[in-house]
Amino acid sequence: MSRYDNRSGDPTSYRDRRSDLGYGGAARSSSSRKDYDGAESPRKLDLDGLTPFEKNFYVESPEVEGMTEREVEEYRKRREITVEGRDVPKPIKSFRDIGFPEYVLQEITRAGFVEPTPIQAQGWPMALKGRDLIGIAETGSGKTLAYLLPAIVHVNAQPILSPGDGPIVLVLAPTRELAIQIQDQSTKFGASSKLKSTCIYGGVPKGPQIRDLQKGVEIVIATPGRLIDMLESHTTNLRRVTYLVLDEADRMLDMGFEPQIRKIVSQIRPDRQTLYWSATWPKEVEQLASKFLYNAYKVIIGSPDLKANHSIHQIVDIITENQKYNKLVKLLEDIMDGSRILVFMDTKKGCDQITRQLRMDGWPALSIHGDKSQAERDWVLSEFKAGKSPIMTATDVAARGLDVKDVKYVINYDFPGSLEDYVHRIGRTGRAGAKGTAYTFFTAANARFAKELISLLEEAGQKISPDLAAMGRGAPPPPSGHGGFRDRSKGYGGNRPWS
Ligand code: AMP
Repeated sequence: MSRYDNRSGDPTSYRDRRSDLGYGGAARSSSSRKDYDGAESPRKLDLDGLTPFEKNFYVESPEVEGMTEREVEEYRKRREITVEGRDVPKPIKSFRDIGFPEYVLQEITRAGFVEPTPIQAQGWPMALKGRDLIGIAETGSGKTLAYLLPAIVHVNAQPILSPGDGPIVLVLAPTRELAIQIQDQSTKFGASSKLKSTCIYGGVPKGPQIRDLQKGVEIVIATPGRLIDMLESHTTNLRRVTYLVLDEADRMLDMGFEPQIRKIVSQIRPDRQTLYWSATWPKEVEQLASKFLYNAYKVIIGSPDLKANHSIHQIVDIITENQKYNKLVKLLEDIMDGSRILVFMDTKKGCDQITRQLRMDGWPALSIHGDKSQAERDWVLSEFKAGKSPIMTATDVAARGLDVKDVKYVINYDFPGSLEDYVHRIGRTGRAGAKGTAYTFFTAANARFAKELISLLEEAGQKISPDLAAMGRGAPPPPSGHGGFRDRSKGYGGNRPWS
């Protein structure tokens, strides 16, 4: 049996390990508490009346123990891992080093993974030590398993659920799409230890979610609004939560979820383990972290500067607003071979209009945005994933978090509102080592982004067109872009294999 598995042992043994529990000692009973970076934290650890629980499971393997400081440093450098915090554990190099239970390792083998991703190599030992963790990593970096596999270990070491108990692991996510993706991975990797998980999100009937919660589930993945509904109606409670994950915290704050997050977190015991994930690290995200985290490790994957994935070929085309549609169609004619193409627009209305026009012209396009019902969004996404509708237009709701394999092209029909969003959008292609192409329409209205965009392209070794370079120097764009596409009157809907 694994060293992590406490379930079939003495059911009360977890109570005897107070020394491992990370609380109760002098440091934690001090009235002046420090948060993750040393500032005063308002998080009070009033532990009276709380049953202790186990959260430190990490045992360093001899191979990892044998790594010299220099080797550790080189490994982190090579894999672009930056760490902060006290007593940071060494990264692991192979799946065997982390000592996951056999049933988890089998799932990893079945999934065909060769080695841990950087966030897993450094994040797993940190998470298994039971400490709070800030992870700055993108979707696509393997971060979901970076918190889910330690979550499975954590659950398996807790006393089993009694009737009326809420979940042990709570994952908060900004969107329904992301929540569903997380649950897919949770189901896959938790199945062998018979863990049950459910997904709680708005826009669909509550009945099935209520039934799942009432049956008892160890892992709940939820968007904040619907979870609050479930808490207010006493369908579930958070008294058993000892492992809390906030995924894509930056996105949740962008979407205005901060009050709901605070409300939810206030109902969770203070000595929980909290894992806080974000792709970016703006001030608001940092402030919220300082409220929720205690003595956290911080791990940053990739360079702290904004960088685009180097496996993506980036093309920026300077055109006018009026040229966009024809240019899109010309582009689709060149690239369309049945592979998935994701087209980003600014507005829901724009999405609907362009999608309608594309369909009228015979292109297999569907659209996903925030005004669509959940059922329609699910359907559109499944058609896109299955390749039945290989063109999907989207607003930024699909920019983060979507994990669709084999998106070959991302087209920015409208330039996004920030360079960060640009990086996230194009990051939907070139995933898991594949090559991808991002094609961006850039108009005079986007001129203020030219300089930053050029730096980003240069860093990724991409070509800068003379027109874009001129815009970067403050010159106006060429009068009508540089056109050169077909006249639409020739028609495009013709003999396509998919029409
Ligand atoms: P995420 O960052 O969690 O959205 O993960 C992106 C994709 O990477 C998911 O489809 C995972 O199944 C996959 N993945 C996670 N860990 C690994 C790994 N160690 N090797 C290869 N793929 C992985």
